[in-house]
Amino acid sequence: MPITEERIANECDITLENLSATPEGRQVLTCIQCGTCAGTCPYGDYMDYPPRRIIALLRIGFIEEVFHSDSLLNCVACYSCMAQCPRGIRLTEVLLPLVKEEMFAKLPQVPAELQTALQNTLRYGNPQGLSPRKRTDWIKTTEVPIRILSEDPRPVDVLWFVECQNSYHPRGQDNSRAVAKLFHTLGVDFAILGNDEKCAGECARLVGESGLFDTLRERNMGYFQKYKFNQIVTGGAHAYDAFKFIYPCHGFNYPLEHTTTFFAKKLDALKPKLTKKLNYLVTYHDSCCLGRHNEFYEEPRNLLRAIPGTKLAEMVHNRIISRCCGGGGGGMWLDTYYKSKGMERLSEQRIKEAIATGADVLAVSCPYEISRFEDALKVMGYENKMVVRDIVELLAESLGDN
Ligand code: SF4
Repeated sequence: MPITEERIANECDITLENLSATPEGRQVLTCIQCGTCAGTCPYGDYMDYPPRRIIALLRIGFIEEVFHSDSLLNCVACYSCMAQCPRGIRLTEVLLPLVKEEMFAKLPQVPAELQTALQNTLRYGNPQGLSPRKRTDWIKTTEVPIRILSEDPRPVDVLWFVECQNSYHPRGQDNSRAVAKLFHTLGVDFAILGNDEKCAGECARLVGESGLFDTLRERNMGYFQKYKFNQIVTGGAHAYDAFKFIYPCHGFNYPLEHTTTFFAKKLDALKPKLTKKLNYLVTYHDSCCLGRHNEFYEEPRNLLRAIPGTKLAEMVHNRIISRCCGGGGGGMWLDTYYKSKGMERLSEQRIKEAIATGADVLAVSCPYEISRFEDALKVMGYENKMVVRDIVELLAESLGDN
């Protein structure tokens, strides 16, 4: 649900203590204990405290016992429970972040990989732990000029929030080069924050580290307020969610697009430029943030259908029942922890479905998915059967020599 003036007034200061004083909090307490949330959760079988049980304990005043469990580290914030709850309870948006915050503060030991990612994010502004000064190194290899606002602070139409994975990870950098090429082809007036940009913080918030989220949010907001622009466009699905749903509680009120929706809205101008035929059979993985959380199901598919020669094949689970890649809510840095508990990686479950379609390309729209699925393909021995490409990479490839 998009954030409105009414939501800001009612929900930005919601806590577990004042839950019943707010409409959304009272809605939580209307749970009918049907168990759909646990049933639809990809790791529900491993969760001692699924949402149903949390609410039951909340009602009788025994919520404290949930805080002393690591059960909610198994929640990868995939929005499945929220999307399926028959009472319309906004579990992933409202209840679970509040409970996770308390749980995270009491965790006797944060799993090592997650701990490192969070410490890196605090120290360097990115979970990879790379120097902030190297954030823009990727632009040296782009075919088109890219304006950095700290060097040239003139007003701009699009402030492009590149995001960490698309700035530092080699495959994310491919994504960024593709976006730059598409912007340039469409004549978009764009600029980036450059080395000033910090992680948007959404995955830190959704694993329970709200203090770190607040620090990152304050830094990014400081830079947003420094420059003049008409809209923010980001390729980060989690950054998109943070800007759309949480930053507005702290003064963010800029028009916002994900690169997928931005280019889908410009399809009339883009389509004549997609001249190179790509004879791929593509299956599209709905990202949890863009799909279930924002209901952008057709925009990515419309972009893929616009590429000449490309055919689409759907996985068994698609759109609202799509399966998560396991990277959200801190899951990106919990693979070792899950493995130690005997849990199958969700990215590997998803690859089995993708391979079953017979497609040769798995198209994605969230930066985490490329590395997760490429790794899963390698581990499962399918690396010669399928490649993973962001939609923007396929669009840029189809531009040919434009
Ligand atoms: Fe309660 Fe909704 Fe879970 Fe059903 S799906 S148990 S109503 S929170």
